[in-house]
Amino acid sequence: MNVLTHFVPAFETLKTPFYFYDMDLLRRTAAACKDAMNRYGYQAHYALKANANEPVLKVMREAGFGADCVSGNEVLWAIENGFPPEKIVYSGVGKTDVEINHAIAHRIFCINCESTQEIDVVNGLAAAAGTTVDVSVRLNPDIDPHTHEYITTGLEENKFGVSPWEFGRLAEKLKAAAHLRLVALHVHVGSQITDLPVFRHLCERLNDLQDLLRNYDIQVEHLNLGGGLGVDYADPDGHPVVDFKGYFDLIHRYLKVRSRQTVHVEPGRSLVAQCGSVITRVLYVKNGQKKNFVVVDAGMTDLLRPALYQAQHAIQQLSSQASPGRYDVVGPICESGDCFGKNISLPQTQRGDIIAIRSAGAYGQTMAMQYNLRDLPPAYYSNNIDI
Ligand SMILES: *Cc1c(COP(=O)(O)O)cnc(C)c1O
Repeated sequence: MNVLTHFVPAFETLKTPFYFYDMDLLRRTAAACKDAMNRYGYQAHYALKANANEPVLKVMREAGFGADCVSGNEVLWAIENGFPPEKIVYSGVGKTDVEINHAIAHRIFCINCESTQEIDVVNGLAAAAGTTVDVSVRLNPDIDPHTHEYITTGLEENKFGVSPWEFGRLAEKLKAAAHLRLVALHVHVGSQITDLPVFRHLCERLNDLQDLLRNYDIQVEHLNLGGGLGVDYADPDGHPVVDFKGYFDLIHRYLKVRSRQTVHVEPGRSLVAQCGSVITRVLYVKNGQKKNFVVVDAGMTDLLRPALYQAQHAIQQLSSQASPGRYDVVGPICESGDCFGKNISLPQTQRGDIIAIRSAGAYGQTMAMQYNLRDLPPAYYSNNIDI
């Protein structure tokens, strides 16, 4: 039933909480993505912000993924971890001059400009460096991805990208930018999108935007659809690998690719979410009059998604198979939002039992913080944990 059961003897010996990564699943997921996209000759840049651990990056790099970065430090970290600069894309609405200069110096694949003003700034910095820089432009496709508002990025009201009403100005700026070469159009509408028709809509919208831009004499060699493909948080054992084939088939079907154009995607979560878990111990079981609480030693500092997005991760008790009870599973942080799940069915639980909070491979460890002066938990990997 539970793929983690096998590792419980090792977990018992370790100080909790920690992150645990199933490297076999990670490799299978990367291979499934590659197989599905290779049929169409697409390129993928793995979004480092989902998980930037070295062993994870190694798997991604070896599978042939490039890197999608959203900060200067991510660009440097990708290079340090062996990603070829020509396979690195750098996005972000608020790049500093220092960050842009790093990207220019390393001659990455492209800097993704998110506003018309950024085009001027990157052009100026490229001129100062005496070079020409490849850029993409992030377009705002004004699409609702039907996901949580905090992870929606492609609506007109969001801060990301250039909207069609600015295309005239965009064309002027690009024409004037002698040190830039526009190589790609980019869109990214949000994250944890489980509604596949959203991507169909996105493809159709990008077709329209390309037509519009053609009126301004803007044509590119690369189309970048961003990331966003969602995973099954409710049933990680039932759906350990997402339907990459369905996703890429849909893109192939609906995106109009012009001759000599290459399609790029930037999967993050869909590659790494399911391979990771937060492993935590039960500190206390509080039996109340209305509710029973399980207090665990992991908190929102180690996995922020439930507190930040009301995300629900599957919670599994790995120590016993006693008859089930109902519990609110909460962390030790002094915040009411520090709750991993309400009214969760778990075997009757006691102090010392081991609990796994699943699907924590993406936006788990990378969002960890030290609030309450907590330690940052370590990571263990299935291929070198002692059993
Ligand atoms: C976060 C991000 C991604 C990855 O998104 P996922 O939902 O994790 O697939 C891709 N591209 C850009 C520009 C991003 O900001």
